Amino acid sequence: MVNYKDLGLVNTREMFKRAIAGGYAIPAFNFNTMEQMQAIVQAAVETKSPVIMQVSKGARNYANAQILRYMAEGAVAYAKELGCEHPEIVLHLDHGDSFELCKDCIDMGFSSVMYDGSALPYEENIKISRQVVEYAHKYDVTVECELGVLAGVEDEVASEVSHYTKPEEVIDFATRTGCDSLAISIGTSHGAYKFKPEQCTRDPKTGKLVPPPLAFDVLHEIEKKLPGFPIVLHGSSSVPQEEVDTINRYGGNLPDAIGIPEDQLREASKSAVCKINIDSDSRLAMTAAVRKHLAEHPDHFDPRQYLKPARDNMKKMYIHKIVNVLGSNNRLAQC
Ligand SMILES: [Zn+2]
Repeated sequence: MVNYKDLGLVNTREMFKRAIAGGYAIPAFNFNTMEQMQAIVQAAVETKSPVIMQVSKGARNYANAQILRYMAEGAVAYAKELGCEHPEIVLHLDHGDSFELCKDCIDMGFSSVMYDGSALPYEENIKISRQVVEYAHKYDVTVECELGVLAGVEDEVASEVSHYTKPEEVIDFATRTGCDSLAISIGTSHGAYKFKPEQCTRDPKTGKLVPPPLAFDVLHEIEKKLPGFPIVLHGSSSVPQEEVDTINRYGGNLPDAIGIPEDQLREASKSAVCKINIDSDSRLAMTAAVRKHLAEHPDHFDPRQYLKPARDNMKKMYIHKIVNVLGSNNRLAQC
């Protein structure tokens, strides 16, 4: 049993309280590789932002659970070495799909876990969520649960259609599970293809797809039911078209990849939404930089030659999100 506090990590409780009061959101960036971890820490330190580093079940399968845990511990040490004396880094399990997986993460030093029972019948979701919360709270680990179903594909999580969260259920759900934050479905979606072209309109000037707006009416109704309660948005990459264009220019094939416009995320950040999950944008930033570098330097074969620009490009994207979209810069309790 490893307690996250011994690793220098923090849970989300205080962070979310401040985010709601301050009208901003904490970035939750997924990581699988050392370069992603370095870019996330560099961006968080330079902007003095709290940050959630999250690990999906797919990431655990790819990188190995122990390695990711030590990387998060290393992230704290790295942030300090970069000059941040009191970094606020959360190690969070993204989309835990069983009590056992959540328990395993808590036991190995995660400071926060998500239990995602959103695909289960309502009562079953409550039952297992409650079980995870009871275990987690013994160790002061915070728990995110989910109501409503997001469309799209993300690692093991996939759904054809979305179901918005029903505002009339949230009080009952939050009370009976005891969860610390609630992931809701208001039209965000997993992956780099968040919407089908037929759900969108096309900008006549650029020919690019314009996605349907998020359901802010549902969000505001939920906020009214649960005043001051931390809300989480999954699937909130913006799929920057310049990265998609770079990928396509250098041999990629991502037609009509589309995300959530950043102005909508900025608006959501000002509400009770205090955690915004961004994964695909990092994948796109990495792939765009690697493709461009290899196309321009066909003689390069040292991975450091193409992973360095990939890391720099991800860092630029993380800083942009923190400063221009979520507003979490300069929000550390102590510098
Ligand atoms: Zn998600």
